[in-house]
Amino acid sequence: MVAPKKSLGQNFLRDENIARKIVEHLGLQRDDIVVEIGPGQGALTKHLIATGAEAIAVEIDERAVAMLKETFGSTIAIISSDVLVVDLGELREKYGRPLHVVGNIPYYITSDILFWLFEHRRNVTDATIMVQLEVARRLTASPGTKDYGILSVFCQFYAKPKFLFRVSSNCFYPKPSVESAVVRLDFPREIPPIDDRLFRTVVRGTFGKRRKTLFNGLRFLGFEEQDLKKVEYDLAKRPEELSLHDFLALVRRLEPYTNEKVLSTFST
Ligand code: SAM
Repeated sequence: MVAPKKSLGQNFLRDENIARKIVEHLGLQRDDIVVEIGPGQGALTKHLIATGAEAIAVEIDERAVAMLKETFGSTIAIISSDVLVVDLGELREKYGRPLHVVGNIPYYITSDILFWLFEHRRNVTDATIMVQLEVARRLTASPGTKDYGILSVFCQFYAKPKFLFRVSSNCFYPKPSVESAVVRLDFPREIPPIDDRLFRTVVRGTFGKRRKTLFNGLRFLGFEEQDLKKVEYDLAKRPEELSLHDFLALVRRLEPYTNEKVLSTFST
């Protein structure tokens, strides 16, 4: 038994039915390769192994790594590392197939893990992850709802997110202060053809001024007023009214008027 460390986001799943249900949602086949983020004491890992798929577990806590080695021996590959520095492209090459990803992830690095997944999306077919309920709602939110924002648009740009089910805080030890939910992200082979640096800048810049119109948000980003007047788009709208499709249309129309100042507003 590993004594839970708060600093590593260690809330161990202790509900067998939930663990089984998560793994069932992956629909793994014998030849599949599955990467588990933060296996901890192996609550999900044993169910992954039972599917016959090849499991690769990435865990930062050396105490948990030692325990996993003792429990599972050579039935899984264990990478003792911070998951954020793992190159999924290398793993895909090594195993010769695109990867499935699963994890009851540490919440303190949720955004980093999501962006790490988006970055590696070409090597991943799908990711089934436990996140804070609030994050699950934001990832899957529709335009015009209170949960809809930057994370919704980014996630829906890179993936097809699906809210699977809620998980009560009572299912963990220690009990976290937040409720959880499991989401599945399916990564399409291609993302929409667009200048994605400009896309990210426009989404972040306009939502940063959420209560403002698109016109004001875009002015703040550094677009010239006279150029914005030429853009054939209703810039009196507010960002939360725009679907992913609408953002793509807007960004395509803004492309001719983009300058370095706009693109350098955010560092990433
Ligand atoms: N999967 C286990 C379960 O369901 O009981 C553990 C889940 S616990 C919420 C998160 C796990 O992620 C812990 O085992 C923790 O040590 C690990 N972890 C934390 N930060 C990590 C990182 N940067 N890279 C890899 N694993 C990490």
